[in-house]
Amino acid sequence: MTESPAAPRNFIHEAVESDLQAGTFGGQVVTRFPPEPNGYLHIGHAKAICLDFGTATKYGGRCHMRFDDTNPTAEEQEFVDSILADVRWLGFDWGEHLYYASDYFQQMHDYAVELIKQGKAYVCDLTPEQFKDYRGVPTRPGRESPNRNRPVEENLRLFEEMRQGQHPDGSLVLRAKIDMASPNLHMRDPTMYRIKHAHHHRTGDTWCIYPMYDWAHGLEDSIEGVTHSLCTLEFEVHRPLYDWFLEQLGVWHPKQIEFARLNLSYTIMSKRKLQQLVEEGLVQGWDDPRMPTLAGLRRRGVPAEAIRKFCEEVGITKYESLTDVALLEHHVRGVLNRIAPRRMAVLRPLKLVLENIPEGEEHLCEAVNNPEDPAAGTRPVRFGREIYMEHDDFMEEPAKKFFRLAPGKSVRLRYAGFATCTEVIKDPATGEVLELHGHWDPPDAGLKVKGTIHWVPAAHAVEAEVRLYDRLFAKENPADESDGTRFTDHINPESLKVIRAVVEPALADVAPGDSFQFERTGYFCVDPDARPGTPVFNRTATLKDTWAKVAGRG
Ligand code: ATP
Ligand code: MG
Repeated sequence: MTESPAAPRNFIHEAVESDLQAGTFGGQVVTRFPPEPNGYLHIGHAKAICLDFGTATKYGGRCHMRFDDTNPTAEEQEFVDSILADVRWLGFDWGEHLYYASDYFQQMHDYAVELIKQGKAYVCDLTPEQFKDYRGVPTRPGRESPNRNRPVEENLRLFEEMRQGQHPDGSLVLRAKIDMASPNLHMRDPTMYRIKHAHHHRTGDTWCIYPMYDWAHGLEDSIEGVTHSLCTLEFEVHRPLYDWFLEQLGVWHPKQIEFARLNLSYTIMSKRKLQQLVEEGLVQGWDDPRMPTLAGLRRRGVPAEAIRKFCEEVGITKYESLTDVALLEHHVRGVLNRIAPRRMAVLRPLKLVLENIPEGEEHLCEAVNNPEDPAAGTRPVRFGREIYMEHDDFMEEPAKKFFRLAPGKSVRLRYAGFATCTEVIKDPATGEVLELHGHWDPPDAGLKVKGTIHWVPAAHAVEAEVRLYDRLFAKENPADESDGTRFTDHINPESLKVIRAVVEPALADVAPGDSFQFERTGYFCVDPDARPGTPVFNRTATLKDTWAKVAGRG
């Protein structure tokens, strides 16, 4: 991703530049994106990806793609594969720099032995309850474990026994010997290793002790020679611990810089909660087009470019905030408006018979593919006696500012002249409007009308399934459960409506992932569920940009 020289800099870029000037890391910039493969990536991760890869690119450095796969029970190959596909789709390339924390298990083990030998780590047999009790609270010092001064030789022997599988899960841990009186709880002799007789998706049964995140994470960055470890704010309080480990070992010491995570309105971002939606069947999978996952957004039709632009506009700060999802939708519309071909599709069809056109007579209209892109050219659309129009474009008793079709009134048909309604055919039992009859005038007739409507030729209409998606949650901040409700209580019942629509023949032959603007109704993307002869379209966004209004940019 190339940025213009005028691209706004953030405090992280400033820190990197001052390190470059001072020669702190020998003039290098090495960043990394380190997901745990325990779920699909979401739009929050996109912010981190854009920052990690974007910063490396901006300063001629490199960004590592690294799986933080230190927890054997939650991780799966499916997640590894999806994460790689999503980062690539977003437009970033790690080249040869693909790494797995599990490849460093031996090295991490050896570092732990070194700390034991230095008298800075010990094997502890407190139960989890005792552990918590001994740790204390921030305002009061904790108590030292009775095992804290265990001799080095005994620690080495016990740690080796742990590694060899001679102790059951949870019976012993290896702890760092730091400071039980520190006001920072993370410094109160944190756990480095726990026993877990579990199969790991990459290392198999080689290990039955697994490193804790806080022990492993800083080492991973150090082993890879990362210069700037960019992470979210919650890791700020862990930083002294990472620094301590690296100082004791005397190894490569990256600089950690924290930034605020992305929170989006009407969205949840925690992987655990997203997983719950999938497991409870509240959505149709990780790639349900209503999900904030990159796989879901892609299936919905959101272009990668829109996500990158959104992340750039959100920017990097030190304070938590809730970003309006309308800003993301604004960028989605901005990109699609530029690139999406225009087509005509009628979502709620009402037949209009133009009685002065003889049966079988057809006219060819020339329809513009994209007014934003002259190179996109035009396409022919056949027009004849019977067309479908939107039910909503007709009112039997027109409201005051309704300029579309009504009895005795005329309207412009996009590319095809004018229609005047002469007769309304209704179901005698229900009064429902079933069909309209009318009169056609060619484009050069020059009728004075205010409204233009889209249409589809009945003789060539293609039936399509259209999935009208809306926001998944009806509450602005569903993750906030302090009001006693659960996030799952706020699923928007209108978040998916499936309808049968009719579309122009040019939409019969489309491929999954193709995006279109259906004139006057919104942006739609072809879903992989399409069956031969019946395309399926997902609504990506309506045409109405609420952000432009809110921000006064419209
Ligand atoms: P979750 O809290 O949803 O489980 P996580 O932080 O545990 O997410 P990781 O796989 O550890 O998920 O995330 C990889 C990287 O993405 C981390 O560096 C993390 O800081 C960053 N990240 C995760 N969520 C966000 C977010 N909402 N905004 C910005 N960065 C994020
Ligand atoms: Mg995490």
